[in-house]
Amino acid sequence: MSRLRIGFGIDVHAFGAGDAVWLGGVRVAHSQGVVAHSDGDVLLHALCDALLGAAALGDIGQHFPDSEARWKGIASTLLLRETLERVRAAGFELVNADLTLLAERPRLAPHRAAILAHLATEMGVEADRVNVKATTAEGLGFLGRGEGLAAQATVLLEARD
Ligand code: MG
Repeated sequence: MSRLRIGFGIDVHAFGAGDAVWLGGVRVAHSQGVVAHSDGDVLLHALCDALLGAAALGDIGQHFPDSEARWKGIASTLLLRETLERVRAAGFELVNADLTLLAERPRLAPHRAAILAHLATEMGVEADRVNVKATTAEGLGFLGRGEGLAAQATVLLEARD
């Protein structure tokens, strides 16, 4: 088995009623919330899927099925912790993670430092192993129309000796 394993994750949520969205474990005030079984944190959901993908452990829906009441409304930070536990139990450690938010609104910039600090702390790595960036959809498609938001994540894992 290769020592280095890459993983990719993607997540989308529609905007809905509410006054805030969760981004990378940080509550961001917004004119809308998101429709979701959990807190709808697209950055963390994409990150969890990337971690599971790199470890060949399936996907977030298999590990935390939305048919199970115990995952309803759960803070996605807890899903990240549980995901990391399972990835580490499979023998892997995180090398780095690179996340991208795709949304017209809210803007990432004012919250980037808080999100980075949260992710580094939760994953137990130095801050320079985590990157969060953002792009808009230039007004195109469901993202451009402001109907929802999306995120992508790529991670590299290394097998422990
Ligand atoms: Mg999701």
